[in-house]
Amino acid sequence: MEQTLSIIKPDAVAKNVVGRIITRFEDAGLCVVAMRRMQLSEKDAGEFYAVHRARPFYKDLVSFMISGPVVVMVLQGAGAIAKNRELMGATNPRDAAPGTIRADFADSIDANAVHGSDGPETAAQEIAFFFPRREIN
Ligand code: ATP
Ligand code: MG
Repeated sequence: MEQTLSIIKPDAVAKNVVGRIITRFEDAGLCVVAMRRMQLSEKDAGEFYAVHRARPFYKDLVSFMISGPVVVMVLQGAGAIAKNRELMGATNPRDAAPGTIRADFADSIDANAVHGSDGPETAAQEIAFFFPRREIN
């Protein structure tokens, strides 16, 4: 069983579609094994997206991620990392396939509803960033 980190971003939380997004994960066979709703600090968001520090969109990305509460989750299931990315759709909702979370709930490349780990190493790092082991059941 693989695990991946999912974040429902401030835009989707503000739209009150947390349950609808989680239902997509569950319907695809992924199980929520840890979950927290929280307000990220600037330090949290900056560290979480540190890989993008040199990118032109970094500052806007951090500002967006702290613009309201997020829901962070660990999803577990066979091929969870790839399955989550597939359910999310392309980074830019304009390019996201019909029926994906970003096609249905995201407005722009900045406000794109969800985050998902992109590989086994980042998944392990990102899960450890948010959840102590005792909070993953
Ligand atoms: P995420 O990491 O959030 O799951 P992703 O892996 O599809 O998304 P990344 O390339 O890791 O995309 O970029 C991280 C986030 O930075 C994106 O989700 C998006 O919100 C933002 N981003 C990426 N590229 C751009 C861009 N060209 N302009 C503005 N924002 C961008
Ligand atoms: Mg990414």
